[in-house]
Amino acid sequence: MAGRERLMNKDARSPYTRFIADVVFPLHERLKRHDTVAVRKQLEDSQWWSRERLARFQVERLRALLRHAGQHVPYYKALFARVGFDPEQVQSISDLGKLPFLTKAEIRAHTDDLKADDAGALARFNTGGSSGEPLIFYIGNERVSHDVAAKWRATRWWGVDIGDPEIVVWGSPIELSAQDRIRAVRDKLLRTELLPAFEMSDAKLDGFIERIRVRRPKMLFGYPSALSHIAQHANRRGVRMDGLGIKVAFCTSERLYEHQRELIESTFGCPVANGYGSRDAGFIAHQCPEGGMHLTAEDVVVEIVDSAGQVVPAGESGEIVVTHLATREFPFIRYRTGDVATLDTGACACGRGLPMLKEIQGRTTDFVVARDGTVMHGLALIYVLRDLPQVGGFRVVQESLELTRVQVVPGAGFDGATVERIQRGLCARLGAGVSVEVEQVDEIPPEKSGKYRYIVSKVDAAGAA
Ligand SMILES: [Zn+2]
Repeated sequence: MAGRERLMNKDARSPYTRFIADVVFPLHERLKRHDTVAVRKQLEDSQWWSRERLARFQVERLRALLRHAGQHVPYYKALFARVGFDPEQVQSISDLGKLPFLTKAEIRAHTDDLKADDAGALARFNTGGSSGEPLIFYIGNERVSHDVAAKWRATRWWGVDIGDPEIVVWGSPIELSAQDRIRAVRDKLLRTELLPAFEMSDAKLDGFIERIRVRRPKMLFGYPSALSHIAQHANRRGVRMDGLGIKVAFCTSERLYEHQRELIESTFGCPVANGYGSRDAGFIAHQCPEGGMHLTAEDVVVEIVDSAGQVVPAGESGEIVVTHLATREFPFIRYRTGDVATLDTGACACGRGLPMLKEIQGRTTDFVVARDGTVMHGLALIYVLRDLPQVGGFRVVQESLELTRVQVVPGAGFDGATVERIQRGLCARLGAGVSVEVEQVDEIPPEKSGKYRYIVSKVDAAGAA
């Protein structure tokens, strides 16, 4: 196995990066009472453990989390008593099946009861969520340390360390409101620069391209849609973006489409590393240079469940349910993500023992339902529109089984015949008799979060399956 040789060659780091990664950032984390550095070192060791050893470690940590929840978290104290659950009896991950799922609605209804009575300082988070309903939850220092350490480990797989210049293209209002003065100083030291992805006008995109060229980051980090937009714009302007020394483009928060991967890789001259995680669910999985989508198995237990809530065998697809093992202060136990994926049963060429996700098919809301009840991925509709040169941009909203609306930014040559082709193409997939309304718009605005969604379905795919 070439695995261990792939560990970062320390001499390749610049003196500044070494100073930040080895001195400044560890100090910063200590002052904030985060164990990030120790956790990262532990994670860099445990990633090479065997699957069996990792599995034993997970069960131990799971039992400890559940024991603590039963003693210190009012919500779980009551729940365990109600269902007769004893954390001491936990022998394997499958024992989680004795507990109900934690849904966003459940968190909303019991926010205060989910805080441990011995919790330290908690940070409050408020995510918009793709459904638009806000979710308020809390994160303790333990969890922050583990989530930051997991991300840090993953960037080091790609030869990027903390302190290396990075450009973050982000639209989340949470991140922006946290841009206080201390944060600004920290970002400057860490050489992190944020480009707000709320608005992608031509003038803004010109500015982004310029910043990337001046900054020459080692890493780009952002939504695949946002990075693709920048790449497309650079190509349109004829500005070369390869040769800047970018080592990797980290994509996260949205499904990464193959055409986006190709566009980003060819434009920036670097590989794309796909990541999967969120503020609420945690840093769940990340791709290594050999292509494996490795789970952060030390911290996150992943169950894949079907629409009836039953765990499916490895290799079958279903909704991702996560238990985050570093959440003693505000537990996330069997949290439903609404994302659909498959567990990979194979081994990765890198030699890491961390299990993998095979494919993240997207959010359950990325699926559309044909009139006859067949659930299919939104890609089936995306292909129809993407193949039409007369279509500049688009968004498909499935309002009901009978009605689908398409917003189109018309390109050159767009006419009545194009509208008919769209209607014919979508009907062929959704079923004859479905009304397809095509509406011409000047632009497709991103969601409030700054993300783009090509497909929005208001039909419950889980219910129809
Ligand atoms: Zn790997």
